[in-house]
Amino acid sequence: VIVTVLGSGTSVPQTARSAPSYLVEGEEWVLMVDLGPGSIWNLVRLSDRRLADVGLVLITHLHLDHVADLAPMLFAMRAPETGRSDPLLVTGPEGFADYYSALLGLYGPWVEGAGYDLETMEWSGEPLEWRGVVVEGACTTHSRPNLAYLLHDHGRGGSVLFTGDGEPTRELIRMGRDRTDVLICECTLPAGDCGKGPHEPWAGRAPGWGA
Ligand SMILES: [Zn+2]
Repeated sequence: VIVTVLGSGTSVPQTARSAPSYLVEGEEWVLMVDLGPGSIWNLVRLSDRRLADVGLVLITHLHLDHVADLAPMLFAMRAPETGRSDPLLVTGPEGFADYYSALLGLYGPWVEGAGYDLETMEWSGEPLEWRGVVVEGACTTHSRPNLAYLLHDHGRGGSVLFTGDGEPTRELIRMGRDRTDVLICECTLPAGDCGKGPHEPWAGRAPGWGA
């Protein structure tokens, strides 16, 4: 599995980091985890991939710095020049169905699939098998429901875990312990505040859990 970091920042614009988004590539599939603002531009700037290549989008949670580019992505893929024809599946945590319904209420057909099949679904709780990759989810503690995703690539091999935001939970540790080759872990805190804030999830905790 190949992971490209398209954005590793926060909601606050910075020169060095964009809002969170990751490109993940297997032998015969391409997916994205999170779509912070600017992600779809970073996809074409920082990788050889195009929107039409992405078959699955996993949203960790519905804070705008993780999901804001979903509507622009769907809007862009209505343009024939994106060459979109393969199906696209988009999934996210509790509240995702309402979120997409709200987008439909605002934008109507502009965020529907056109010339390709678009499926949106709230995470079922069950592992998702998709084109040789198996995706598992675990809830973490955050100010909105957040899903961490563990991806197993049965083609190239390897596994990668994306925590999204928030603090670790037993469910997350149970999912990832000894089963994770690469950990992509959110850790955001003001300088000098290590260990004090709600975004200090991993300081001193990651050692020993096998990632
Ligand atoms: Zn968040």
